[in-house]
Amino acid sequence: MSPDPERRSQLFLIFGGPGAGKGTQASLLSQSLGIPHISSGELLREHQRRDTQNVMSSGELLPDDLVTGVVMARLEQSDAAQGAILDGFPRTVAQARALDAWLDQRGGGICAAFYLDVPPDELVARIVNRREISHRGDDNAAVAERRVTIFNREMPPILEHYAAHGQLYRIDGAQSVDRIHKQITEALASPAGPDR
Ligand code: AMP
Repeated sequence: MSPDPERRSQLFLIFGGPGAGKGTQASLLSQSLGIPHISSGELLREHQRRDTQNVMSSGELLPDDLVTGVVMARLEQSDAAQGAILDGFPRTVAQARALDAWLDQRGGGICAAFYLDVPPDELVARIVNRREISHRGDDNAAVAERRVTIFNREMPPILEHYAAHGQLYRIDGAQSVDRIHKQITEALASPAGPDR
């Protein structure tokens, strides 16, 4: 299938451990760029299947096929025709490959990937603190530690993948929300591109 020029999807990826601020930054960037914020976690929480909910409450990752199918279906919707901010996807190398294949088929591309770097202890503390407002079953200390462990296991090759393509920006995620958003928008405006 040849790429459809009407559907050149420009994607922005936000990476970071659980509690790193991906959702907040993805939402701010979505407002700045006028393209939708697509969170795989949110899409999966809407997926009311009991087996899905059980895996999510344990902090483990869901199968690549399921997650990829749900995210791609969302990317196919008309409001994402020009592009989207992806938060929480891809989370495995298989998902990154599936996204590359989808973009090859569509004729779109990844404009930039931002990694919000926050130390593991700080991630767990943030998740425990946000529990009162998030009301998420997986926002507790034990599951948070498991989610951080999985993140540390899965993320390095994905970060390397996007760094090798010159698309990765590493951002100090311990800074204020405003400061991080400013760094992201400045990086996008700069012709220099990320450090390799
Ligand atoms: P999040 O809202 O991004 O913290 O995701 C919450 C949970 O949803 C994760 O702990 C996983 O169980 C599941 N999940 C979200 N995104 C993915 C993904 N890309 N791959 C596999 N599981 C995911």
